[in-house]
Amino acid sequence: MSFRAIAIDGPSGAGKSTLAKRLAQGLGFLYLDTGAIYRTVGLYALRQGVAPGDEAAVLALLPSLTVTTAYAQDGLQHMYLNGEDVTEAIRQHQVSDAASQVSAIPGVRAYLLEMQRRFARENDVVMDGRDIGTVVLPDAQLKIFLTAQPEARARRRYDELIARGQQADYEQVLRDVMDRDWRDTHRDIAPLRQAEDAVAVDTTQLTLEESWERLFQIAKERLSL
Ligand code: C5P
Repeated sequence: MSFRAIAIDGPSGAGKSTLAKRLAQGLGFLYLDTGAIYRTVGLYALRQGVAPGDEAAVLALLPSLTVTTAYAQDGLQHMYLNGEDVTEAIRQHQVSDAASQVSAIPGVRAYLLEMQRRFARENDVVMDGRDIGTVVLPDAQLKIFLTAQPEARARRRYDELIARGQQADYEQVLRDVMDRDWRDTHRDIAPLRQAEDAVAVDTTQLTLEESWERLFQIAKERLSL
């Protein structure tokens, strides 16, 4: 039996995770947030006192790291770092930056690639990330490239942090968003880019509801549902 896959790539704050999660629910597929996996590695580096940009030191940590994913009763994806539930901890602001840095290390990407592919071999999936359509699942039945202007994405990220009760400064969040965009699109390995056969959706002017309707429509047409 072969499984179906939908790949959703794009920069942070374009609405990927919310939309991918909802799409997965709507279609009865499993959702895998691959950014959460890189975040878990980034968190581990921070906790071990290793600079996330220090390639040799981060690679030396991998043998003592086990990253696992499990789904709670509510269907939410939980991340485990050596058995500890770090679902909340990986959402801290400094972990975003650490994730972006460790994700530029080729050995880290190679280490996580098989885990992601196995997931898609065993389930119908909606996977979101930066390189799902280009590297992880080049044969996905549907690829979506979700974007939005940096200011709109920073505003959403800022609102999200405030809603979680964390302190945030909009200008700082915008600078971080732009730094991460730059790093994600300019890195040598698996840079963020639109796959040739991806459908581009720009959500700058769309509400979440409008974005959702567009995505669901595209998915229904493409997967003949
Ligand atoms: O999507 P999220 O913001 O949680 O991802 C955190 C970081 O992980 C991103 O900035 C990006 O550098 C990296 N990432 C990646 N490839 C993926 C998913 C995330 O490089 N497939």
